[in-house]
Amino acid sequence: MWDVDGNDYVDYLLGQGPSFLGHANATVNQAVHDACGDGMLYGNSHVLEVEAAERICSALGWAEMVRLGLTGTESVQAALRLARAATGRRRFIRFEGHYHGWLDNVLVDAAGTGPASAGQVGAQLADSVVLPWNDAEAVAAALAEHHGQIAALIMEPIMVNAGTIEPRPGYLQRVRELCTEHGVVLIFDEVISGFRVALGGAAARYGVTPDLATYGKAMAGGWPVAALAGHAHLMERFGTGEVNHSGTFNGSVMAAAAVVATIDLLTSDPPYERIAEHGTALMAGLLELADKHQVPLRVQGVPMAFHASFGPREPVTDHRELRNLDLARYARFAEVLAGYGVWVAGRGIWYVSAAHGPRELATTLERVDDALNESGA
Ligand code: PLP
Repeated sequence: MWDVDGNDYVDYLLGQGPSFLGHANATVNQAVHDACGDGMLYGNSHVLEVEAAERICSALGWAEMVRLGLTGTESVQAALRLARAATGRRRFIRFEGHYHGWLDNVLVDAAGTGPASAGQVGAQLADSVVLPWNDAEAVAAALAEHHGQIAALIMEPIMVNAGTIEPRPGYLQRVRELCTEHGVVLIFDEVISGFRVALGGAAARYGVTPDLATYGKAMAGGWPVAALAGHAHLMERFGTGEVNHSGTFNGSVMAAAAVVATIDLLTSDPPYERIAEHGTALMAGLLELADKHQVPLRVQGVPMAFHASFGPREPVTDHRELRNLDLARYARFAEVLAGYGVWVAGRGIWYVSAAHGPRELATTLERVDDALNESGA
């Protein structure tokens, strides 16, 4: 990536994740260009929209129907509305540290207790019951306490937004069972993890099937598209018009073409092993440099999306343990790294793309080494 002054960066922010195939993937962009030459929006379905939905369903393996949208925020809201319609219940369970978009009913401050924005209708947060994540007993207790009131349970099945924390073995399975037992719609928010941690996202990686799931980011080569996927018995309520989900630009020709071309690339030449190798080597290289320079830099997560911070090396398994890490020090270090040509998020996530190769790996580690050597952390 180059800035206006001509400085180059190895980019691990990837536009917050969508540039999973690298910036401006030529195949995807050509497909979008070719597709929109005849028209862009018809106010009705078109063949590419059907093809995009078919690609998504076959990539996921479990989903039967899809609705395209523009943003993850929107698809989350569609999922919650659908869950309410299907259950006749209002409240939903969500988890500390998980991000589900910027709208009033899901946006919380850093402490996780109140609204995060001026102008936000904080009262809408009362619709959710907020629990610590990775604790199946907390879910069991909340479902017992709020019996018959919970429409949905929504989570990032791997908590990338806060620390890149993986689910404990058996956790997702237990939550799946509890949701089934209590008639609660299980929603995986896979806006980050979908098409990234595996073609089938975290559901495939951990072998647990939700009722509904949201996707975006890595699904469309950087084009603005999101999707809600799910079982037909729920999703058909959109088709009948019983549940409203609308949007002028949803399912545009460009969006659908980008999804088709991206999933075709991800299936014809899967980048997952290459990305895993790069990410694993990068994580190991960063730890080596930390030891060399005697700084408490630590990493955790999966190679396609890992979290870097300062603090003890033991894995963090819960959002609350993030307090033991020095996140502010890392945010300052991310700014130092930018000066050395490594572009990373101040909040710690490193996204790896299919365009990162051995050259980028070597350059990154050299630059981090120089940064630690000359500027420290
Ligand atoms: N859900 C998750 C897990 C996300 O990480 C994000 C965005 O980062 C969203 C939802 C919201 O998606 P968008 O920014 O496309 O509205």
